[in-house]
Amino acid sequence: MAKPQRRVLIAGGGIGGLSASIALARYGIETTVLERSSFAEETGAGIQLGPNATRLLRALGVLDAIEQAAFEPEAVWVFDGLSGRRLAIVPLGPEAEEHYGAPYLTLHRADLHAALLAVARQLALVEIRPNFEIARFEADEETVAVGTAGGSSIEGSSLVGADGLWSAARKWIAPDARLRFTGGTACRALLSVNGLQGVFGEPIVGLWLGPGSHLVHYPVRGGKALNVVAVIDSGSETQGWNQAADPDALRAGFTHWCKDSKSLLEQAEGWRLWSLYRLRPLGHWSRGPTTLLGDAAHPVLPFLAQGAALAIEDAVALAASLAANRDNAAEAFLGYETLRRRRTTRVQRVSRRFGWLYHLRGPARLARNFALARRDATTALDRLDWLYGERTLS
Ligand SMILES: Cc1cc2nc3c(=O)[nH]c(=O)nc-3n(C[C@H](O)[C@H](O)[C@H](O)COP(=O)(O)OP(=O)(O)OC[C@H]3O[C@@H](n4cnc5c(N)ncnc54)[C@H](O)[C@@H]3O)c2cc1C
Repeated sequence: MAKPQRRVLIAGGGIGGLSASIALARYGIETTVLERSSFAEETGAGIQLGPNATRLLRALGVLDAIEQAAFEPEAVWVFDGLSGRRLAIVPLGPEAEEHYGAPYLTLHRADLHAALLAVARQLALVEIRPNFEIARFEADEETVAVGTAGGSSIEGSSLVGADGLWSAARKWIAPDARLRFTGGTACRALLSVNGLQGVFGEPIVGLWLGPGSHLVHYPVRGGKALNVVAVIDSGSETQGWNQAADPDALRAGFTHWCKDSKSLLEQAEGWRLWSLYRLRPLGHWSRGPTTLLGDAAHPVLPFLAQGAALAIEDAVALAASLAANRDNAAEAFLGYETLRRRRTTRVQRVSRRFGWLYHLRGPARLARNFALARRDATTALDRLDWLYGERTLS
């Protein structure tokens, strides 16, 4: 029989890794989080957190810590990007909070990350090691060891690979898995809300759909800044979250768009891009006492805004599974993987489909707009129950 859990190693101190360390500490399980960065840089931009994520953040004691930095939008307004016509409204704010028992929030990724880090640092069972970039993995049935290229190493009884989209742990657990560039690019910028006019000053998430491109904007930093994300079906492959984007190449994707949406693109400066990748669902996420979570296990395209939420859900599910089977991490991880696979695959599939719907052209675009405009706003939240109403984990 395997030995009970001693120390769980977590590769990556991003959203999922820190959530997992907090969730495991609630069951009395010790973790060491190994993060390659020094945590000093504030990278990334806006993130949306549906009630499926905020419900779990509340249970982890993190929701209060993001309250000041987060914004609760009143609704999603969906527009046709060419005509500027509003097609649909999905209520959020108090209505969504009442429907789902948790709020829908928008915030800067750095603020969510800082809150998770602050909560994790207060926990005696969580050790955090920055500047530890894992380059080597070894495991037998009872022990896992990881090391840096410089020769530092550390041992634990199991390992959770939460090292993001370009995961080194995934290469070790599923060496044949290949990220594939979709051909699309997301560009993001932050604007001060001072002086923003019309719809851009409204307390909403704006979603503008157009042929081969779409635009999303929402308030972050407690409402002081507007996060803008422009997605185009073109661009070249670039690794990382913080590459500078060429504004002219970006604006070329919006040439025939209405005046309002183009004016927003003109106002935003300092565009950063990230290339969009997809990964076929992995045959397995776990190998003995090692497993994956979040983007390392199942990266999602950003069109349902669920990347961070799925990582948080994984963290909570993994902790419950390991707590219920402390003597056997391999079995616990298989249980976790089985529990999570169906949902994460569904979210990956629906996100891809939404991206396709957002970018329709010609008559298909008109048919989509017609269907959206006919939808009954009063049942909009019911249609999202499968996504935001997930309660098996709370
Ligand atoms: C810097 C950054 C900026 C981002 N910006 C946005 C954004 O603006 N909008 C958005 O929607 N999503 C953004 N994302 C992605 C989003 O945060 C993730 O999709 C989501 O949170 C899933 O969480 P995760 O824990 O799986 O991965 P992440 O939150 O990406 O965390 C992975 C962590 O692992 C660390 N890591 C990677 N390799 C190693 C290694 N070999 N050894 C040790 N540590 C390692 C990384 O430094 C990172 O901290 C960003 C991610 C990062 C890392």
